[in-house]
Amino acid sequence: MVGGTDDQGAPVPTERPLPDDSDAVLDLAALRAREYVAALDTDRVRPAGVGNGATSLGGPLPEVGEGAVKAVARLAETATAAAVRASGPRFFHFVTGGTTPAALGADWLASALDQNAAAWAGSPLGTELETVAVSWLADLFGLTDQWDGLLTTGATSANLTALAAARRWWGQQHGVDVDLDGLTGLSQVPVFASGHVHSSAVKALGVLGIGRSTVRRLGEDDSGGLDLAELRDRLAALDGAPAIVLATAGEVNTGAFDPVARMADLTERHNAWLHVDGAFGLFAAVSPRTAHLVDGVDRADSVISDGHKWLNVPYDCGFAFVRHPGLLGSVFTNTGPYLPGAADPHPNFGNLGPENSRRSRAFAVWATLAAYGRAGYRELVEHHVGLAARFARRVEREPDLELLAEAPLNIVCFRHRRPGRTERQLDELNTRLGEAVLADGRVYFGTTVHRGRVAFRPAIVNWRTTEADVDLIADVLLEIADRIE
Ligand SMILES: *Cc1c(COP(=O)(O)O)cnc(C)c1O
Repeated sequence: MVGGTDDQGAPVPTERPLPDDSDAVLDLAALRAREYVAALDTDRVRPAGVGNGATSLGGPLPEVGEGAVKAVARLAETATAAAVRASGPRFFHFVTGGTTPAALGADWLASALDQNAAAWAGSPLGTELETVAVSWLADLFGLTDQWDGLLTTGATSANLTALAAARRWWGQQHGVDVDLDGLTGLSQVPVFASGHVHSSAVKALGVLGIGRSTVRRLGEDDSGGLDLAELRDRLAALDGAPAIVLATAGEVNTGAFDPVARMADLTERHNAWLHVDGAFGLFAAVSPRTAHLVDGVDRADSVISDGHKWLNVPYDCGFAFVRHPGLLGSVFTNTGPYLPGAADPHPNFGNLGPENSRRSRAFAVWATLAAYGRAGYRELVEHHVGLAARFARRVEREPDLELLAEAPLNIVCFRHRRPGRTERQLDELNTRLGEAVLADGRVYFGTTVHRGRVAFRPAIVNWRTTEADVDLIADVLLEIADRIE
């Protein structure tokens, strides 16, 4: 449709190519979202028949669209029926947090206001909100030094971002600007970790050209715990040459922690960069009851964590902190005649991480911290740690269940056992049991392999989770086990 002229002959705007039915679409989305959220406490985690829900949305690309109201209504209908209730109270798989009411509301606003949190000039609001959010997070975790920080899409991208800073530092120690000239001609980067190291940190090293296989795992035993004496010897043998040390604060199978403070003693003495992956475990810092687990984290060179896990903000959100002001900017600054340069007095978060254009994740982070404060998050962490301890005691009491590791935080690693079965038969039985639990759908948690044994590892990270929800893990498992040979 083409615009014409008004009665005075002035041009009127060309009509928009798409109709504006925002009001109706937003009302519809809000209504369906409200219904979904209201039923989260009672719905089955995996509704019966789920698994092929999206197929009814397939078919060829429509030549002529059905319109926004119809399309969104159809999507809402199918999606709410098909969604695994990952934001509900009985989803214990992976380490999947829910969304607090404040975070969800704020995240809707982030979409409505559609701020690009890359450059101050484009969104002073997004930039200023992220500055506040990052400083509140640093405060929450006791990172009181001068840290540069930013929000990322998750812990994987936060690992990548922080380790890119570590790589730059390592090059500088050799007198080389690796971001300018690459790693060619340099020796292999020495990287040390315990057996707890997360696959995403290893993946980041691969992406950065340091290489996945460079990581030396200095495991004390098959539980993955760090051999500190070996780390000391390996660093001493480098004779002052720089290295990167990866600490894991909260291992995914058991919630185990590397001894960060004692690692910091060594990295400070031997010219090594200490990186701490605390994707969920960093939240131990929020409670005086668990803060000892992350003792020394403020002495690291870089620290990362997730927002979409224990902070309970919607996907996707993580954060990275680097205790070398300016270093992230040196790695990630993106120049162009139309972009803010190094002299810009305002922060430009697009120059601190891999992405240029960025969603304003600070909306949700700011809102949830403003809504519940330090005390709210302390209560949340202590509630979950208490639930994990309660569940671990139940496992110890049940003759048919076996606790496979200490549960220092919010993950409980255990398995089903039966007298007279070999280890292989138990692995096979627990694998089948795990599949049956997911198909049943009343509670949801996955299997892993811990010290060579197939095990369950429910993780408690959702603000909605109660004692009754956690009790159902053992109730459902034992009930299903009774039916399985
Ligand atoms: C979950 C997790 C990650 C990866 O986080 P994503 O948010 O999925 O990218 C990294 N490290 C640890 C220890 C984790 O638990």
